[in-house]
Amino acid sequence: MNDSEPLLFTSDGGFTRAVTAEIPLLYRYALTLAGDPLTAEWLVSDTLSRAWEKSDSFRSGPGLKTWLHRILHNLAIDNMRRTAREVSVEEVEDQWRDETFTVDPEKVAEMAEDEEELKDSLLRVPFAYRSVLVLHGVEGWKLPEIASSLDITLAAAKQRLRRARMMLVSALSQSAVRKAANIGVPLSCWQARSLVLDYLDGGLPSAKESDLVSHLSNCATCPPLYASLVGMKTSLSGMRDSDAVIPPDVVKRIHDGVQHRHPQEEK
Ligand SMILES: [Zn+2]
Repeated sequence: MNDSEPLLFTSDGGFTRAVTAEIPLLYRYALTLAGDPLTAEWLVSDTLSRAWEKSDSFRSGPGLKTWLHRILHNLAIDNMRRTAREVSVEEVEDQWRDETFTVDPEKVAEMAEDEEELKDSLLRVPFAYRSVLVLHGVEGWKLPEIASSLDITLAAAKQRLRRARMMLVSALSQSAVRKAANIGVPLSCWQARSLVLDYLDGGLPSAKESDLVSHLSNCATCPPLYASLVGMKTSLSGMRDSDAVIPPDVVKRIHDGVQHRHPQEEK
């Protein structure tokens, strides 16, 4: 037996038990990072299967918790697209360097106390910074632990945390400005944006529809998004062309391929 082999690998399933015990923490981390339950679930289940595949390479050194979080973090980095809503690191640094830049602390605090606004602003902090902020601020990890889990130096972890805090304050302050412009408008922008897709397809109950219509006619920021969605839908429907129907042999090939991979699901 290898000396560095941890006690976790016992014949009574110690590794499995220990990994399983980490699932709730991993899920909470993934949910805060990704902001949606489906992605969080996918991240955790993929993390677990990687953990089992790599269980031979795990040694007790960095600890199971940091090791699993590292796997999840790497999966998330590879799969989370940068979104247009993310604040820019450079812009925020320039903003904070500008001596005339300031925020309204009361408004920022008000946004931070609103769980939805806080979640939304957190998602606007770019991923590499968000993960440090979540591990430190939400999960209560110490910086050396974070550095070890993310495989970065302690100095880099400190730097990311410092920038992440600035970015979150800037994001919250932008939310406060947006919210102030929207006083009296029904629905939060996030709620409105979630409903808009159903609205476009005519699948929205009429009570929600009137709130949404009112939001769209009064909101300071949503109307251009809505206009783009309508424009995109129109352009896509313009692509419909009777010559572009999928040939029957392609349909058959796709169907046969699926049947071949999942024979038990057919007939
Ligand atoms: Zn809006």
